[in-house]
Amino acid sequence: MISTRYTPSSQENRPETRIAQGDGWRCPTTGAIPPPISLGVTFARDGDYEAPAGLAYLRDQGSPGYEQAENMLTGLEGGAASLIFSSGMAAATAVFQALPVPSRVVVSQTMYFGLTKWLAEFGSGRGLEVVRVPSNDLDAVSAAVAAAPTALLWIETPANPTWTVTDVASCAEIAHQAGALLAVDNTVPTPVHTRPFDLGADLVMHSATKYLNGHTDVVGGFLSVSVAQAPEKRAREREELWERLRLHRRLTGPLLGPFETYLLVRGMRTLFPRMRQISATAMRLAEHFAEHPLISRVAYPGLPGDPGHEVAARQMTGGFSGMLSLHVAGHWQRSLQVAKYCELFIRATSLGGVESLIEHRYTFEGPGSTSPKDMVRLSIGLEHPDDLIADLEQALERASKDDR
Ligand SMILES: *Cc1c(COP(=O)(O)O)cnc(C)c1O
Repeated sequence: MISTRYTPSSQENRPETRIAQGDGWRCPTTGAIPPPISLGVTFARDGDYEAPAGLAYLRDQGSPGYEQAENMLTGLEGGAASLIFSSGMAAATAVFQALPVPSRVVVSQTMYFGLTKWLAEFGSGRGLEVVRVPSNDLDAVSAAVAAAPTALLWIETPANPTWTVTDVASCAEIAHQAGALLAVDNTVPTPVHTRPFDLGADLVMHSATKYLNGHTDVVGGFLSVSVAQAPEKRAREREELWERLRLHRRLTGPLLGPFETYLLVRGMRTLFPRMRQISATAMRLAEHFAEHPLISRVAYPGLPGDPGHEVAARQMTGGFSGMLSLHVAGHWQRSLQVAKYCELFIRATSLGGVESLIEHRYTFEGPGSTSPKDMVRLSIGLEHPDDLIADLEQALERASKDDR
């Protein structure tokens, strides 16, 4: 359908190789690496009313850049196809809006706050029965999914902001036995560290705003669908849902702009080295603060003592991503003071960029927050680990003097 593809990337090559090369895309006219940004909304037809590249209108077929970005993610996840969206939330809520009405869905109790809030505000009005379970407890998941016919199990792991780990392969088994599909929010591990389709998931969602873009300058999202063989009923339901998701995007238009898509593709090309360094630095920090007198607990699945470590070590490869939370010892307000005194960590929400961020989630989320009050969340970037450690050390020291 799209003519800017110059040399399709070989499926034989590793995901790391394919993504570094932008999946083999070039400008067909000049050979430029990378392809130009195609800003056209509508496309001229020839005298026979044929559209030369099969494109008619941007909202319907997308821009050539979408196909490059989508193919890159499909290759990374080892899936069948992907769809780009204007945000992670646009992608996530598309899934819940595309389900048949009424549907029962079981979701992780701990997950991205915005999605929990959307389901609470808009879910039941749209015919969704939403059941929240602590998805790190597989017995609770089994009981919830088996209690009534369930269309979808939706999990996030490690889950924001406590980094609770959910066993993806076991959840796939539980969901499939009960006739439900499994969707995984893979934003935090990224396909560098976890590939949910290899563990049995049917759908993967990403906030591309985070690690995939990685430079804190694009809001975007993705959905991908599994290529795995499945019994006829599940294969059909998965396909129907995917077709409805295509139609949903086509008719409602939660699209990323072509320019943002170009930036996203540029960011994605360096995903592997960024994630490797970010995860190694996060591990250094987690180990450094694990036994620290001013810290009561470090939540990071990479630490052997973390409750989720065993499962994380089984399903995550090459690292545990760059998100960790520190529980500050003493009165809970000391954690706010730590954020206040940081000079290198930037006090800001979001995650997954090249610069390190610190956030007091309880204060940010406001009323209804279930985030622990004594906790600061860290998003580790590409700075030198010793500089990050020194910044937190001085902030902890100053905060501890405040309330002495
Ligand atoms: C940020 C985030 C989202 C929402 O994505 P947006 O791009 O901000 O809409 C969903 N899930 C997780 C885990 C996130 O971190």
